[in-house]
Formats: sequence, structure tokens, C-alpha cells
Amino acid sequence: MNLQASPWALIDWERIRADFPLLTREVHGKPLVYFDNANTAQKPAPVIEAVDDFYRRHNANVSRSVHALGTEATDAYEESRRKLANLLNVRGDEIVLCSGTTFAINLVAYSWALPQLKPGDTILVSRMEHHANIVPWQLVAQRTGARIKVAEIREDGTLDLDALYKAMTVDVKLLAVTHVSNVLGTVNPVREICREARKRGIASVVDGSQAAPHRKIDLPAIGCDFYAVTGHKMCGPTGTGALWARKEHLAAMPPFIGGGEMIKEVSFDGTVFNDPPHKFEAGTPNIAGFVGLGAAMDYLQGVGFDNIEAREQALLAHLTEELDKVPGLRMFGRAPQKAAVVSFLIEGAHAHDLATLLDLEGVAVRSGQHCAHPLLQFYGVAATLRASLAFYNTHEEIEAFIAALNKARKLLA
Ligand code: PMP
Repeated sequence: MNLQASPWALIDWERIRADFPLLTREVHGKPLVYFDNANTAQKPAPVIEAVDDFYRRHNANVSRSVHALGTEATDAYEESRRKLANLLNVRGDEIVLCSGTTFAINLVAYSWALPQLKPGDTILVSRMEHHANIVPWQLVAQRTGARIKVAEIREDGTLDLDALYKAMTVDVKLLAVTHVSNVLGTVNPVREICREARKRGIASVVDGSQAAPHRKIDLPAIGCDFYAVTGHKMCGPTGTGALWARKEHLAAMPPFIGGGEMIKEVSFDGTVFNDPPHKFEAGTPNIAGFVGLGAAMDYLQGVGFDNIEAREQALLAHLTEELDKVPGLRMFGRAPQKAAVVSFLIEGAHAHDLATLLDLEGVAVRSGQHCAHPLLQFYGVAATLRASLAFYNTHEEIEAFIAALNKARKLLA
């Protein structure tokens, strides 16, 4: 691989990596190799400092106080909404801040789907969804009498698009699809998929958890109805995330959770709700978390999504090439468009045993079902090992990981 030929190779990735304090630590006496980024990303110093600075200098609740600290906290919280909107190329008043993708999809389920679905309606869900984009639809189906239909995948981990479009029959009211699979790394052609759904009057919910940290997201170009993101995978704090929804949807949707902040006026005769997006943000939010998320948005924009994507693609190519040399290795997901997530198994070795031995070498990977039971059922396996990379990982870490994997494989043989 000719790294010098690409313009992004001029970026000082070593300096960028040095922004992440945790990456310098050792685990079991070995330098940490953190390959569990699809689970949660590490945080750069500016994010950690923004949270620290908020608690040291600005801490107050949002929206309720006219005093200086209250105004500073509210401004910082709202600034985070603006930054997220800017990142996704949408309006700020279409961004509902919430605890993450799980909450965001449940908001669509309870506030959009529950009031309008009825017996005879269908929710189309892809086989490769995370449980967060399956279980809320099952709960809605149970309560409305709607049914769930599965959009199947092919052996290589791509969605069967012909079958998907055929499955978009008149009874289908909603499509739930992930932008990027957290197990296979498959990047789904969501622009085309959402266009086909829209043509047939089907609302689309796209799970952007694994896409937004790794590529430029242009929501108007994708053309979905709902898009969910989670802050902790985008170098931001845990408990932060957002739902983007078209303005007309947000205006028509009833509130999901009631309480303070989401109202204009309350009496025992009734309540006048706040305008969207505040109508959906009851109670005290994770203010410090969103301040940190704002810093994370600045950080990622600073590195540049084109650079992030190119860097991760180079790491993925290296990792795939090395894994393909490992005897007895079965890789799940060979989509032509793939993010830097690789799931695999090694013949004769249990995924958890391998992960435990890798941990002893300082390597953090995830083993298990990755909150995607139906996907693993498709492949007929109980667990996989998953290595998921971020732009701050290095080619040297890939070499260390492969060496540790070969050592573990031989121990278990
Ligand atoms: N969807 C996907 C594709 C995910 O990878 C995850 C996190 N593992 C989620 C949803 C859940 O997101 P959150 O952590 O925000 O609840």
C-alpha cells in the first residue's frame, strides 16, 4: 500500500492520536490496542476538558433561570444542537436531543408509529438491524396489531435490494434500516433505499449510529424521514444523541415523555406543549454531556470527515488483508461498501476465549452477539469476534493485533 501517494497521508495521525489520553495506557502490562470503537469511541482531550470546564465554571440547569450561569448553560446546550444540525446539514429545530439512538428510535416508535399504525399495517425491518431498531418495532406491533416483515440479506452481508423493493408492498407503512451495520460493517445505499420507500409512501427510519462517526452525513441527500445518532460513538460523552426528523413529522407527533421543559403552560384543565424539538425534551437533560458532544463535533470537523473516512478505509484494507492470511478464519460481511468493522471466527476456537486471550495481550475487541441476534441466526453462529477501528488507530496496532490473534489461536488449537 502506497500511503505517501494520498493527500490525506499528509495528516499527522500520530499527533491526532496523542489527543486521546486513554490510548497511552497499558492493559495487563501491554500497550492498549483499542479495537472496540463500534461499541464506544474514545474521547479526545478537548471533549474531556469541555465537560470538566462546564462543571468547574458554568454548571447550572438549562432554560429555567435568567441568571448568568443559567444562560451560559442554556447557550452551550443549544450550541451543541446547532453543531449537530450543521454536521448533518439540517435545521436545528429538527434535532431532538436525547440520550442516544435507543431513545431516538423509541421516540419514533411511541410518538410516530404507535398512534397511527393499525392491524393490517406492516413494519419492514432489515435482518442486519441492532436490537435498538428491532425491539421497539416489535413492541409497537404488539400494541397496534401491525406485523413485522424482514428484509433479508445475502451471504456477503449486503442487503438484498431486489427483495427489499419487492417487500415494499402497500401495507408497509414504515421501513427500519441501518446506515452501517455494527456487525458486518456493510454500508447500505440508504439514499436509494429511502427514495424507493418514499415513492411508495413508506416512512423511513435510518439508524445512523455506526455511520455518523465515520463519514460525512448529508440528511437532505439521504432523504429519510427519521435519522438517529448516538454521541458516545462520535467521540462524545455517553448518554448523548439525537433524533433528526422532518419538521412536519415533529409538529404532528404527540410528546413521548411528559414533564418540565416540554411545556408552555400547565393547568389541571390541560397542558400546552412547547414547540418541537423542546416538546420532546422533558426534564433536565445531560447538559455537560451535550457540552462535551459540541466539543466532539468541533473535533471531528477539525480532523475532517473525508480524512477520517480515507484513513479508516486504509486501516480496513490492511486489517482485512492480514486477517485473510490467518488459517481457519471465517469473515462475516464482504460488502463492497464497508466501514472499518470486521466480524470473524476462527475454526475450533470460541469467540469469548479468543477475546479473553487477546485482552491479556492488551487488545480490546468485542465477542458475542453484538445486540444483533437475528443477524447471527442468519449465519448460524452463536457469537463472533469483532474488531472495529477508528481514525486514531494505527497500522502498527493492526500488526500487534494479528500477532496476538495468532498467538491466541495456537494456544487454543
Ligand atoms: N444501533 C446501532 C447500529 C448500534 O451499533 C448501537 C450501539 N451499539 C445502537 C443502535 C444503540 O445505540 P445507543 O448506545 O445510543 O443506545
